[in-house]
Parts: sequence; structure tokens; C-alpha cells
Amino acid sequence: MAYDPQNIFAKILRGEIPCNKILEDDWALAFHDIQPQAPIHALVIPKGPYVSMDDFSQNGSADEIAGFFRAVGTVARELGMTDDGYRMLANNGADAHQEVPHLHVHLFAGHDLGSMIKKFKD
Ligand code: AMP
Repeated sequence: MAYDPQNIFAKILRGEIPCNKILEDDWALAFHDIQPQAPIHALVIPKGPYVSMDDFSQNGSADEIAGFFRAVGTVARELGMTDDGYRMLANNGADAHQEVPHLHVHLFAGHDLGSMIKKFKD
């Protein structure tokens, strides 16, 4: 899938739409999710135009990948998530219900997050 520069996270990166910012560095921007699904729900996105984890892991440079994942860890620490634990999740594609076509990692914390994933049924 080609990158769509009009997706909502691209607009946030360009400052065209506001966000509740947590952290920004050369590689990543982190902000609070607009519809939180846990007491703390943060999103971390790379600065570069990557549709998904699949795109980023194939086409991101080593510096972009290292910088991005370091930022994910930094955000979790800065939000105090490391004491009681957190969940990191990235939806990739249709079956995962990825809604925004710019790679984003969700960070959830603040209470017991329950089981990892909906149980599989035939
Ligand atoms: P996903 O289903 O993994 O693509 O998740 C997209 C996430 O982006 C959802 O949790 C939305 O609540 C969140 N979201 C959409 N628009 C915004 C926005 N303008 N600011 C913050 N979070 C947003």
C-alpha cells in the first residue's frame, strides 16, 4: 500500500491537527490516544512516512528503527508504565483492524490489562 500523506497522523506530524503531545525527538512523536482504551493509552509514531510495521521493518533505515523503538521505551518510562507493567501493540493491516495507515505503536497501562488477545475459535 502506498503511503497516504493525508492520513490523520501525517497531519499531526505536520502540525495541521493538534495532539496531546508526550514526547518528540528526531525519530518519533508520542501523544495520548484520543479515545483511550486503558487509563493510560499512548501512541508512538515514527517521523518517516511508513504505512505499517511491515513497511517500516522492510524500508526503515537502521537509525530510524533504533530511534523509533528507543522512543517507545522512553515514553513508557516517562509515563511511569514500567513499575506495574504495560502492553505494547501495533495493528498491521485488515485482520488487525489497523485504522490509520501510518505506523503507530499503542502503549496501554494503568490497570490489569487482562489476557493478551481474544481467544481463537474455529
Ligand atoms: P489502529 O486501529 O491501531 O489504527 O488505531 C488507531 C488509533 O488512533 C485509535 O486508537 C484512535 O483512537 C487513535 N486516533 C485517531 N485519531 C486520533 C487523533 N486525532 N489523536 C489521537 N489519537 C487518534
